[in-house]
Amino acid sequence: MNYITNIPDPGEKKRLVIIGGGFAGLELAKKINKKQYQVVLIDKNNYYQFQPLFYQVATSGLEPSSISYPHRKSFQKTKNFHFRMCEAELVIPEEKCVRTNIGNIKYDYLAISTGCDTNYFGNDSLKDSTFALKSVSESLLLRNRILLSFEEALSAKDEEELKEILSFVIVGGGATGVELAGALADMKKSILPKDYPETDFSKMEIHLVDASPRLLFAMSENASDGAAKTLEKRGVIIHQEISVKSYEKPFVELSNGTKLRTRNVFWVAGVKPNSLKGLEEAAYNRGRLAINEYNQIQGYDDIFAIGDTALLISDSSPKGHPQVAQVALQMARRLAKNLNHTTDLNKWEKFIYIDKGSLATIGRHAAVADLGKFRFGGWFAWWLWLFIHIVSIVGMRNKVSIFIDWVWSYLNYDVSLRLFIRPKFNKMYTKEE
Ligand SMILES: Cc1cc2nc3c(=O)[nH]c(=O)nc-3n(C[C@H](O)[C@H](O)[C@H](O)COP(=O)(O)OP(=O)(O)OC[C@H]3O[C@@H](n4cnc5c(N)ncnc54)[C@H](O)[C@@H]3O)c2cc1C
Repeated sequence: MNYITNIPDPGEKKRLVIIGGGFAGLELAKKINKKQYQVVLIDKNNYYQFQPLFYQVATSGLEPSSISYPHRKSFQKTKNFHFRMCEAELVIPEEKCVRTNIGNIKYDYLAISTGCDTNYFGNDSLKDSTFALKSVSESLLLRNRILLSFEEALSAKDEEELKEILSFVIVGGGATGVELAGALADMKKSILPKDYPETDFSKMEIHLVDASPRLLFAMSENASDGAAKTLEKRGVIIHQEISVKSYEKPFVELSNGTKLRTRNVFWVAGVKPNSLKGLEEAAYNRGRLAINEYNQIQGYDDIFAIGDTALLISDSSPKGHPQVAQVALQMARRLAKNLNHTTDLNKWEKFIYIDKGSLATIGRHAAVADLGKFRFGGWFAWWLWLFIHIVSIVGMRNKVSIFIDWVWSYLNYDVSLRLFIRPKFNKMYTKEE
């Protein structure tokens, strides 16, 4: 077998391989005791991505570097830690190894934290014709698409074409869809008329299409009502309990027969797990990795799953936990504590999720919050949202740069990040050379 040979032998220590350095994997890698374990973190990117702020990169509110952080920098001075940028392809439990695109890696313990990807619910043609928001690179692509629309609008042949260019259809009324719609509405009001004085932005339409009975379905009815009212006040057209049937350029067809003419369809309607193959059938449930309360994957003592890809069905969570950052972080912390304490499973503590509440922002000065019994919206929720995101972001430089961008934007209603940067094609970066 083709093993990666340049990772030192762990000697007396056990090797913990972590696949995926997102919220869950990075937290586990930080909290695990490297005097007990040799840690090998693998990720297909060499950086961590703070997904809740992707929409701000897409709408030119933040730079991609403010919401990303290099894995190697996080662990610069850490002993018994090794990072490899590669893609895990398969787990081979019989050999206790993971197959990756750069070779196989042996493990004593394996933690899978590969998160999720965009779900097109079987309609794969939408994958090529719409824009998703599940990575920093997709946020940049979306940013470019949005900026390109405003440039294209200047050479529209007639009113119909102008409307097609300036119509934005966001599919999915969860937090990301609501935040994206709110940010576009803010741009339309305060930034675009200054940047493009020749364009008639009364023709710009923002549609939010949501199949569920109400926006922000995972939050309280209070929050849903608040979000819908604020968005409508800001000019967003909401299509509730309606799904997208097809998108044959330039028409998006909705389930009620409505056809919307647009060049911009942003797909934020759902996620599907990135579960690795190679495990027994019992390990998979609805595509996710079925775990017990100790994060062990069904049928395995030495393989764990944490974060979005893990599914824990128990009396306290009959449908599993929500796929949010807090669950990922808390699972990682519990697993790290258990592994650090002892490898004797009888002494391990079960994972219990503590719901700290949810927040979603709808644009300038508007957000909704469900914090236990407290449900509120408006200014205070918005400030709280800003504060929590600054605290949660990885890296001091990132905290400072986001703070400066947000203060600047708050005072001037404008940040100067609307750069349309296109990568030049270079064979060096492609697999097919
Ligand atoms: C746009 C958006 C907005 C969101 N907003 C919020 C919010 O406001 N609040 C909230 O709580 N949650 C939010 N979430 C959800 C939250 O980001 C996830 O719940 C969280 O990221 C899950 O963490 P994770 O570690 O399981 O997965 P991730 O953070 O997705 O990390 C997975 C990692 O695995 C790597 N990876 C995947 N497959 C492989 C492979 N085969 N080989 C190697 N590496 C691999 C990826 O590169 C990535 O680094 C949002 C998500 C998105 C997409």
